[in-house]
Amino acid sequence: MIVFVVNCGSSSIKYQLIDMTDEHVMAKGLIERIGMEGSNLKHSGGDKEPVRLEQPIPDHKAGINMILDALVHPEYGVIKEMGDIDAVGHRVVHGGERFTDSMLITSDVLAGIKACCDIAPLHNPPNLNGIEACMEIMSGTPQVAVFDTAFHQTMPKVAYLYGLPYELYVKYGLRRYGFHGTSHKYVAQRAAELMGERMSDLRIITCHLGNGASITAIKYGKSVDTSMGYTPLEGLIMGTRSGEIDPAIIPFLMEKEGMDAQQIYDYLNRQSGILGISGLSSDFRDLEEAANNGDERAQLAIDVFAYKVKKYIGSYVAAMGGLDAIVFTAGLGENSPFMRDKICNGLEYLGTRIDQLANKTRGKEREISVKRARVKIFVIPTNEELVIARDTYNICRRIIKL
Ligand code: AMP
Repeated sequence: MIVFVVNCGSSSIKYQLIDMTDEHVMAKGLIERIGMEGSNLKHSGGDKEPVRLEQPIPDHKAGINMILDALVHPEYGVIKEMGDIDAVGHRVVHGGERFTDSMLITSDVLAGIKACCDIAPLHNPPNLNGIEACMEIMSGTPQVAVFDTAFHQTMPKVAYLYGLPYELYVKYGLRRYGFHGTSHKYVAQRAAELMGERMSDLRIITCHLGNGASITAIKYGKSVDTSMGYTPLEGLIMGTRSGEIDPAIIPFLMEKEGMDAQQIYDYLNRQSGILGISGLSSDFRDLEEAANNGDERAQLAIDVFAYKVKKYIGSYVAAMGGLDAIVFTAGLGENSPFMRDKICNGLEYLGTRIDQLANKTRGKEREISVKRARVKIFVIPTNEELVIARDTYNICRRIIKL
């Protein structure tokens, strides 16, 4: 079965074409700047030369069409015709409380995803654009929605309720949902495999540290707490997002800086986090370099970030009543020995001990704790596309005759 994995952002589409017989990536690429000047597609098909195609891409439908043209192109394509694609798997950010697992997209499911636009106004509409474009262009090909929130639907009420009047939860679904679910699930499963154990026997803390960052406590196979909340703004300090702050800061800023609600929302999402603290960059590579050259605020941003991650790890050990493994993933988690060491330094009382030599690894799957450590530490590159493809395959193989 060939699965087309689609991840639509507001002005971008990431995709992969995966052959599920051996889970190999036949082609992948990225469209950027949809609806803007300079819109373009970067496509690479197997071992063929990657191409960059620049042309106006007014909307997601035009983008999907362009990708499909690239996939069947005689020079850089990898399939003969669109009909070779057996199923499409879509990343959908928010599934609310309704979607606890990946779903075959029917009109009812589509209505459910639309209903979640209220609680995810930034994220779900572009996901829907991609789904609707694919349904139109590839009518007859089964489509599956894989939700970022679904894995965290096992969180208990004590973990997901805010200290707000309960009626707000009932009326608006105001609660913590958590995100990056496919990533947390994937790396936890891999960690269990590497340990030769079942996930249902382990307590694992997964640290997805990228531009967006979240940490999850996975107790015996189930997400029991995670750092992002009602939106992906809560929790850790991130590249440009503030993470958790005292809510009283919002009216203070409204009064002192004359900001309205939208301005504050943008400020907390785009100008805060390590960018805000350092005044320099949202990229940890820049901060590490600047800190090495003596930039104090870059150092401070790094310190605040690492402190927060460490604090979350401690609190999740308490929430789970113990710990068997810590996993680092995503851009920073996979590539920064320095940050991993900084976070783990001082956690030895939990039974962890980082192996300095193994920790030098970047972007590769590896155990980075010393052999005899009671708690294992791993670097595991995340693969959200593969989780989407696997879920799509598992749902569709029941309905497609292969
Ligand atoms: P992601 O959102 O998962 O793509 O992660 C992107 C972030 O990972 C970047 O903004 C960097 O801060 C961080 N990152 C990527 N590579 C490195 C590296 N080699 N060293 C430190 N940080 C890195």
